[in-house]
Amino acid sequence: MRVPLIAGNWKMNNTIEESLDLANNLVEFSKKFDKNREILICAPFTALHALKKVLNGSKIKLGAQNMHFEESGAYTGEISAVMLKDIGVDCVIIGHSERRQYFNESDELLNKKIKTALKFNLKPILCVGETLEQREANAEKETVRSQIINGLHDINIEYLKNIVIAYEPVWAIGTGKTATSKQANEIISYIRSVIKELYGVNVSENIIIQYGGSVKGSNASEIMAESDIDGALVGGASLKADEFIKIINY
Ligand code: PEP
Repeated sequence: MRVPLIAGNWKMNNTIEESLDLANNLVEFSKKFDKNREILICAPFTALHALKKVLNGSKIKLGAQNMHFEESGAYTGEISAVMLKDIGVDCVIIGHSERRQYFNESDELLNKKIKTALKFNLKPILCVGETLEQREANAEKETVRSQIINGLHDINIEYLKNIVIAYEPVWAIGTGKTATSKQANEIISYIRSVIKELYGVNVSENIIIQYGGSVKGSNASEIMAESDIDGALVGGASLKADEFIKIINY
């Protein structure tokens, strides 16, 4: 059975104090929360160490939003998987559309990052999704197909249980435009079929595939009701404890 994963992506927001405040609210909520759901917060690097102490012993997992593919070395300004493990981070977002768009991250680079994350037992959340132009050209399926095939290139089947995929149509991120639940489910089912082609039915039926793009308290239930959607990657709405709690508790 696939357990839904509700993940917050705080992006470049929150000081350490603000991060701890938000996390404390979520930890309090999670003490009484008994639905079968995984909860994750992906915070800026600067807050991870302090957050780990607050989240320790709670149901909430800790994630980073990016990492370098090398283990160490002369890469000024970068953070490695080893450093994230040292803090006790559980997951890492790889290939968020903002990384692809503003930092020119290619599928080839993301593939290296995923391999390194897996090597250090960090669960990568591989983000895929089409731009508005690609959707208007009816190219959404071929876009996510090549992102999946290239992103997972040469990754052995044994690692697939440690990988999460997030389908995030770029036109729905931070725009207030949500894909309809049917649109999201259609592409997520398609992604599952690509995983089936690559790794077989057992893997495709068990892999967690989230939807992301303007998820909020008011639309979470409808999105999560879809058969192939296993949770949400939430940006803006994860910055307010009340709103994120509504999503977790859909
Ligand atoms: C995201 O950052 O992954 C995201 C989906 O953002 P938002 O929920 O704000 O659209």
